[in-house]
Amino acid sequence: MAIIACPECHKKVSSHAPICTHCGFQMGAVSAEQLNIFRMRKLRDKIYHLNIISYAVITLFLAAFGWYWWDSGGFEHQSSAGPFVLMGLAALAYLYVRGLLFRSRRSQKVLRQKQFTRLKPGQKL
Ligand SMILES: [Zn+2]
Repeated sequence: MAIIACPECHKKVSSHAPICTHCGFQMGAVSAEQLNIFRMRKLRDKIYHLNIISYAVITLFLAAFGWYWWDSGGFEHQSSAGPFVLMGLAALAYLYVRGLLFRSRRSQKVLRQKQFTRLKPGQKL
């Protein structure tokens, strides 16, 4: 039994392991195309999770706004600082998640182009 580096995450795994215990990559002889497909799947999952997080952050922002409304007695008087802090944090988190999503979508596009250029002329996906 030998210890080898996973082609995807570069962590040490047994050469007999069918899949990488760190990232789930299927071990053994893999073509560049299979590696590309694996990366595209991982990226798709990442984008899915980032979308869920961005919806959760929007919900948090709306909840903070509701808190502000409730705390100010329907905008009648000054509210405490809590709702503003929460709204600010939610807004920052939202921008951060959108940034990550933008980066992921851009690498997804690059991977798709790689996949496409590997096809022979006239061959369909
Ligand atoms: Zn791995």
